[in-house]
Amino acid sequence: SETPMPMRARAVIDLAALRANVTTLRARAPRAQLMAVVKADAYGHGAVRCARAARQAGAEWLGTATPQEALALRDAGDTGRLMCWLWTPGGPWREAVEADIDVSVSGMWALEEVSAAVHASGLRARVQLKIDTGLGRNGCQPDDWPELVLAARQAEAEGLIRVTGIWSHFACADEPGHPSIQAQLRVFKDALDYAERQGITPEVRHIANSPALLTLPETHFDLVRTGVAVYGVSPSPEVGTPEDFGLKPVMTLSASLASVKRAPGGHGVSYGHHYTTPGPTTLALVPVGYADGIPRAASGTGPVLVGGKWRTVAGRVAMDQFVVDLGGDSAQVGDEAVLFGPGDRGEPTAEDWARATGTIAYEVVTRISSRVPRVYV
Ligand code: PLP
Repeated sequence: SETPMPMRARAVIDLAALRANVTTLRARAPRAQLMAVVKADAYGHGAVRCARAARQAGAEWLGTATPQEALALRDAGDTGRLMCWLWTPGGPWREAVEADIDVSVSGMWALEEVSAAVHASGLRARVQLKIDTGLGRNGCQPDDWPELVLAARQAEAEGLIRVTGIWSHFACADEPGHPSIQAQLRVFKDALDYAERQGITPEVRHIANSPALLTLPETHFDLVRTGVAVYGVSPSPEVGTPEDFGLKPVMTLSASLASVKRAPGGHGVSYGHHYTTPGPTTLALVPVGYADGIPRAASGTGPVLVGGKWRTVAGRVAMDQFVVDLGGDSAQVGDEAVLFGPGDRGEPTAEDWARATGTIAYEVVTRISSRVPRVYV
């Protein structure tokens, strides 16, 4: 493992923690296969390295949103089952099929495009039909399900596709007990029953994301699609902390102080002077900002560990930097400021940042930009 310290900032990615999380999650869904969701550069953790680690820990499937993300994993050498679900007209159907990627189909236009892409090629697309059981996002409306299923059966008969999966996605699994969960399950089961009566028997039926995997065993079916939990991040405070489930946060974000200086009382700090030093103090400059994915909403609220204590972002987060007020404490330029991590060195967690900045922990890790080098340990 490389030494992270000389860099301005770094996101240390603990691949052993990721592998342990996959093992833990597999044990929670023992009868299901596991899909590690590695879209959006593995929620900011680095898709290729995280995909490889997830495979090592036994993930049978990888999942991405876009076909480009899936194709990039193939280019990086991944050969296992791989699915992508966010298609738009004119997408790279042929390339995906040639790369043995399962493609999601949410409507007739997509079934037509994928069928046309493989027509007369001898190729057979692996298609996973998506039903919208209530999220109101992508997926076939239940009223249109019979038409899609019958058309898929026809395309199967013509040798153009194989229906490898039927799947859906929850709206409120991160709010345990939400009535929509059972309602979505009922719609899902009806859709599965209908397809089965039409002679469609997919390899995998799946609807569970991380919160459903963690809290609702009856949602596991044949496969669980888990993203955020793989990275040791909690889906929501209502579901619990990562620790509650034996999950370890994978990313630690830290930076090296770029300036430490004394300042008198009454000194304005950062754009707009939204913070003024209450008395003579020490100001430390943390060289990461909103271009690195630190939310500007952290101005005056974001927690940072410096010198063993939590500090708060003083004044505005700028594009490349922000300031913390060390009060009576001292520090050296180059000292480490830890924004978030597992918490075992006393640092804040991604969940703490989510609470402090009015967002979800998913966004905290995913938005860390490519300017921050990932260091794999
Ligand atoms: N399935 C789909 C379709 C998704 O879009 C996502 C991510 O939002 C997931 C699964 C994984 O969700 P989570 O990160 O909550 O496990």
